[in-house]
Amino acid sequence: MDFAFEDAHHQLRDTVRRHAEAEIRPQAREADDTERFPKALFRRWGELGLIGARYPEADGGVGMDKISDCIIREEIGRVSQAFGAAFSAHGHLGIWPIWRAGTAAQKVVFFRPALAGEKVACFALSEPDGGSNIRALKTRAEKVAGGYRINGAKLYITNAPMADFMMLAARTAEELTADAISLFIVPLPDPAVAISHLAKEGLKGSETGLVHIDDLFVPDAHVLGERLGTYPVILDSLTENRVGVAAATLGVAKGAYEEALAFARTRLVAGKPILEYQAVAHRLADMATDIEAAHWMVYHGAWRVDHGSLDHADAAKIKLFTSEAAFRVTEKAVRCWAAPASCVIIPSAVSTATRWSTSSPRAPRMCSAT
Ligand SMILES: Cc1cc2nc3c(=O)[nH]c(=O)nc-3n(C[C@H](O)[C@H](O)[C@H](O)COP(=O)(O)OP(=O)(O)OC[C@H]3O[C@@H](n4cnc5c(N)ncnc54)[C@H](O)[C@@H]3O)c2cc1C
Repeated sequence: MDFAFEDAHHQLRDTVRRHAEAEIRPQAREADDTERFPKALFRRWGELGLIGARYPEADGGVGMDKISDCIIREEIGRVSQAFGAAFSAHGHLGIWPIWRAGTAAQKVVFFRPALAGEKVACFALSEPDGGSNIRALKTRAEKVAGGYRINGAKLYITNAPMADFMMLAARTAEELTADAISLFIVPLPDPAVAISHLAKEGLKGSETGLVHIDDLFVPDAHVLGERLGTYPVILDSLTENRVGVAAATLGVAKGAYEEALAFARTRLVAGKPILEYQAVAHRLADMATDIEAAHWMVYHGAWRVDHGSLDHADAAKIKLFTSEAAFRVTEKAVRCWAAPASCVIIPSAVSTATRWSTSSPRAPRMCSAT
């Protein structure tokens, strides 16, 4: 079996890396510090064709494959995990369902402007009482003349504070069946939708919202595909996106590894680079091994998406392994910095570790070992 990248994939990676280094990295720290994502970046991603990369040309996309989408996500994640989250919520979760199941009119009004980065999307599924258990969602849509009246609450919604429309999941019946769950497209702002900004401990440069929906009217024309029971679309969207999220975490791991390796080559202790000390070399070897395994899982998964053979369970395994590998790698990266100074670093989260590793040549927070 040969899963080698094609020339077009290598060229894409070079292009996105140049963009990420020149235009994302300089903004990532400020976004983390201010907890505000630079919304104008979506237009830039639209101009560069990054949002539309994996969508067919017939729908306004670039017509590349899922492998290309994962390369883009990896390169964004390599520089900023928070920006990768914003990209995922917009370029996949918020608009993939419209591409898959939307009407022609919904594609014109919402999907195409989103590909261009002119409108920013978010996807609202999770609720205060239920994230993993999708079928338990309580947000209720009741049929009224000309549309639906919706009430409920959504939690942890990426991009919500700056979104121009929301892909909203709600139930249209009391019974806990898949047929009762549908998607509604909600232009924002709307006086019936209150969105507050959630402060987080990590991923701060990605804006996350708490959403209260109070007697929101959604016309029939804004029901996704103008039909109820689009729960399978949600599942398929989440499955494909798990590979994209995994690609972003692979980028996080690679970024941290590169920084740690560069530091280990140049940091001298007792006259020699710390890379030559076994404790550090073993750490770097473990990191490289995790990255190699994650790399193959991600790109084999992307290849399976392109061939229509990726199932829900394997997508979940790819995301599970890759995100945990990224956690291990970033933690070890932080410890490479800690080792020579005989200091202790207390890593708190992958995103924090990533921020240290990608934005500072030295770990900024150390406390003396006592
Ligand atoms: C930064 C961030 C961004 C997010 N962005 C979005 C977004 O854009 N849109 C959106 O809709 N949601 C978003 N989410 C929500 C995310 O999808 C949910 O947090 C996730 O689905 C988990 O749901 P929960 O937080 O309610 O945890 P719970 O479902 O309450 O789970 C709590 C714990 O119990 C475990 N658990 C749950 N069920 C089972 C089970 N059956 N068997 C064994 N263990 C179980 C879970 O693994 C977890 O460890 C975001 C979350 C975060 C943190």
